[in-house]
Amino acid sequence: MFEEGFFLPEEDRGVEVILSEHPEIRILWERRAQLAGPIEINGVNPILHVMLEGIVENQLNDPEMPEVRETVERLEKAGLSRHAARAAIANVFIYHFFPVLKEKKTFDRQKYIRQLGLLGKDFKKTGRNEPCPCGSGVKFKKCCASAVKDWQISPMLGRLTLGQGSYILGVDFPDIDSPLHPLYQLENRVHIARFLANQGDVEGAAQALKENIILAETHNQESWLSNALYDMLDLCLNYPQMSEEGLATIERLLHLVRDDAKGYLLCDRADIVARTGRVEEADRMFQDIFETMPAWHFGRYRYALHLSDTGRNDQAITVLQDLVAKKGRIDTETYQAAVDVLNDLMTG
Ligand SMILES: [Zn+2]
Ligand SMILES: [Zn+2]
Repeated sequence: MFEEGFFLPEEDRGVEVILSEHPEIRILWERRAQLAGPIEINGVNPILHVMLEGIVENQLNDPEMPEVRETVERLEKAGLSRHAARAAIANVFIYHFFPVLKEKKTFDRQKYIRQLGLLGKDFKKTGRNEPCPCGSGVKFKKCCASAVKDWQISPMLGRLTLGQGSYILGVDFPDIDSPLHPLYQLENRVHIARFLANQGDVEGAAQALKENIILAETHNQESWLSNALYDMLDLCLNYPQMSEEGLATIERLLHLVRDDAKGYLLCDRADIVARTGRVEEADRMFQDIFETMPAWHFGRYRYALHLSDTGRNDQAITVLQDLVAKKGRIDTETYQAAVDVLNDLMTG
């Protein structure tokens, strides 16, 4: 029913090419049949992104569609990468994709190919009542006028951003000069992992975060690596089945982080040990923390949480009351945290 050049077979060369360029999406692609509902992460559907770019990649190798190859070559000459050029074409293709898919219209291949000629051109001087530059014979305003704003070319076309806040802070990141910069992979995997964990696929989430650790190692970037390990630790702290991975991750982080960050990691380690049922061992770990860092009051607060988590509220209250009595002599963060938990424990 669809014309040639519109199909996307299950085992598909085009998709493979795109997945090698957006490798973080592979885990979602492989699991897309098992996942519930539409795969949408912060309003973006990464499967659709891969699909559209994959279709264009196939068209690019289709001897029946030489115009697609010619357009890619023309855009590459204008300074676009292969990925960005493909994405520019996908922006035109999407105008045909949904009407065909959802409204069962026939794919107007001739029109699509004519429209590819508009990519990279400037239409500021084209009057709305003039014939459309695509050559359809229809007035510009009734043909491509409203679409051409979506068809502007840029070297960043084809980038896939599923969120920000972990590796990419702010929309315009000055160091990123390519839509395939590894920072996008790293950031995207954080959101993919959250999405998978929310779907109950903790193993998938862990795999995504492991891929980030490997990527950081490959690039020999210490800040990426500690970031990736902390993401893994967060997952491990939230899911008891990840306890062993959590302990291994903490060991690695202890070698990477500054001294003032180590106390938190040691408390996390004790929490995980307690969670696996080794409560006495965890108690001893906290005693060790107090001996090595006697002035670090936040560790006492964490100990109180540990006591409460392991069913010893009376002891937790004593530790917190000691902290609260030190008002003015301990940091305000610890003081306030202790007051809040103490109130909860006394009223609960
Ligand atoms: Zn037109
Ligand atoms: Zn892309």
